[in-house]
Amino acid sequence: MTTIAANLQAVRERVARAAIAAGRRPEDVVLLAVSKTWPAYCVAAAAEAGQRLFGENYVQEGVAKIAELRARALEWHFIGPLQSNKTRPVAAHFDWVHSVDRLKLAERLSEQRDAELPPLDLCIQVNVSGEASKSGVAPDEVPELARQVAALPRLRLRGLMAIPEPDGDEGLLRSRFATVRRLRDELNAAGFALDTLSMGMSHDLELAIAEGATMVRVGTAIFGTRKLREEQT
Ligand SMILES: *Cc1c(COP(=O)(O)O)cnc(C)c1O
Repeated sequence: MTTIAANLQAVRERVARAAIAAGRRPEDVVLLAVSKTWPAYCVAAAAEAGQRLFGENYVQEGVAKIAELRARALEWHFIGPLQSNKTRPVAAHFDWVHSVDRLKLAERLSEQRDAELPPLDLCIQVNVSGEASKSGVAPDEVPELARQVAALPRLRLRGLMAIPEPDGDEGLLRSRFATVRRLRDELNAAGFALDTLSMGMSHDLELAIAEGATMVRVGTAIFGTRKLREEQT
């Protein structure tokens, strides 16, 4: 078994244990393998081990991997900060975008999504850690943005995504995840049908699952420690 296959199995076990501990079913939590900075052959190794959903943060790198791995019919999620002038390749090649935090982005993705493709699945990224984060929309602005996004064609609003401050202690992280879950519950009570809470990473997936995460985004625990490098486009 390759290291990636063994790591994947260990992460799947962590996810299943956390779900059961929270009184949930393991199959209600989906694993998104975050392959940013790792070459296509690492994604291929994970795919060989049964992983189908992959997350990428950088547009050019992601699009290149999608092209290289086309024959494997994987599902690709864009999870990084997105500039408005880079939406076109994302709308053309990805299946999901988790990082929508302003109407302009959603409008462009909607306009640019080919009518031949299924609608683009979206999450609104919520800033749950205030000043400590530059990305995401403030919780009190989420309902308005959700209404606007839901009205656009070619998109399907699926839920909310959040990245709490990485240095938070357990109690703080749990309260951040709980904020996102409550927001999702409020939106659904107001008539939305959001089925996705994209939250939890290598170091905090158990806490996120305890607070209702339906999709955990895991990189390091599957592929290893990323080398520090300049952010690409
Ligand atoms: C890199 C990244 C992840 C994965 O983080 P790990 O700590 O490597 O598991 C998850 N979500 C987002 C948005 C990321 O940028």
